[in-house]
Amino acid sequence: MIFAANFKTNHTRKSTAEYIRALNDKIESSPTEHRVFVFPPATALDSYETTATIGAQNAYPAQNGAFTGEIGVEQLEEFGIDTILIGHSERRELLGESQEAVAKKFAFFKEAGFEIIYCIGEPLEVRDQGDEAVVEYLLAQFEGIDTSYGKLIVAYEPIWAIGTGRSATVAEIESTHKALRATLPATPILYGGSVKPANIVEILSIENVDGVLVGSASLDIESFYEMVASV
Ligand code: PEP
Repeated sequence: MIFAANFKTNHTRKSTAEYIRALNDKIESSPTEHRVFVFPPATALDSYETTATIGAQNAYPAQNGAFTGEIGVEQLEEFGIDTILIGHSERRELLGESQEAVAKKFAFFKEAGFEIIYCIGEPLEVRDQGDEAVVEYLLAQFEGIDTSYGKLIVAYEPIWAIGTGRSATVAEIESTHKALRATLPATPILYGGSVKPANIVEILSIENVDGVLVGSASLDIESFYEMVASV
């Protein structure tokens, strides 16, 4: 299983270091076979001593250059970071990243050999139209994406379930992951959207769910590791 913590715009450099120290202590005292990822904010990226994989929440598709406010591969390489989140709905919705821009970013970081957690998810108005509309919407988010890339992990995150406390139902997750599996026969598929200690066991027991991408409930190490240790 895969457990990925997305801090978004939370935690500082200091608190991220404390978090990773606490995570290391937990891994040492209660070893896990699962893969653990942590995506801190850009200011907290560093060469941490840990068996967890530290990734970037975002970066500009360039080695370096004149891209004010952005970081590129050079700034990630400094810390040995070769994992990135691409296509998160907050970047698509709030930062206006188009499918074309997302696909361009994907192609660049694939070429650079990065492991990519690629996020897809539908808005509530699409979910309300039923399963068929959802799958059609999600498949459109693979436009320009090489779904056979060996270092790809896909995260299905219904937008209406992110940060709302309302997770998708077991039936919704099951049918969506089943449909995605047809396109992604060998790619891990994570679920994300209000995952927490109270629902982790149920979510991970769903067929074709290979792990979780967690926002709010990952910010506290006790809550995050409770989930890692629960299965
Ligand atoms: C996310 O944004 O990736 C996410 C899943 O957030 P939350 O767990 O807070 O819903």
